Amino acid sequence: MRTKIVAGNWKMHKNAEETEDLLNDLIAAVPQDKEVQIIVAPTFVNLAAAVEHLEFTNIYVAAQNMHQAEGGAFTGEISADMLKSIGVKTVILGHSERRAYFNETDSIIASKVATALKHDMTVIFCFGEELKDRQSNNHFNIVEQQLLDGIFFTEAAHWENIVLAYEPVWAIGTGETASPEQAQEMHEFIRETVRKKYGSQVADSVRILYGGSVKPENAAEIFAKPDVDGGLIGGASLKAADFAAIINGA
Ligand code: PGA
Repeated sequence: MRTKIVAGNWKMHKNAEETEDLLNDLIAAVPQDKEVQIIVAPTFVNLAAAVEHLEFTNIYVAAQNMHQAEGGAFTGEISADMLKSIGVKTVILGHSERRAYFNETDSIIASKVATALKHDMTVIFCFGEELKDRQSNNHFNIVEQQLLDGIFFTEAAHWENIVLAYEPVWAIGTGETASPEQAQEMHEFIRETVRKKYGSQVADSVRILYGGSVKPENAAEIFAKPDVDGGLIGGASLKAADFAAIINGA
């Protein structure tokens, strides 16, 4: 049995005060007794406050990104050690917005993954095809290649600290969701690809999240699919009631 994960990616939303408000609303709204791992990823500047605020709750904090270097002359960047020093042990890497707007290639993402794992952090590794790939029926190849280049350099032992997040780019922030069948089809393919490389123990235990316009209305149906182990939620994670409803659907 894999424990489901519902993670909220807040992206570049919410200043300090708004973060505090949303955290308070979340603490009140999210279910306490559900067997689901709940994660939120506020912006860097609000991470320390979020860790403190959520200390005695069932909500964990993740960063949305980090730099691959241990430290040094990298103006504007944040290291794994810095995140860990404030109690953040989970990081989202390879998000499609990082790939598209900040030129993060598979090889950059792979170095970030390596650094995070070296620091015993949990990595939520995001990947997924673009619309043109799906239209040209190339989506399975693209996804396989992203896994090969971005994360399959790791050893089987690392997979205790790896969560996969399949996020078809055409479904992110567009209101268009993959159908539960499309999600299941791809998640099954991903799990079998992991199985070929790492064997059944890793494949059967790795959590594969779906991301892309998950909302209260579609969450339960998507999460009910056998290879979907929860979701990475953008827009709908910014409203406590919606996020709680999505968690309840898991
Ligand atoms: P969305 O974003 O839920 O707003 O589509 C998902 C994501 O980018 O992780």
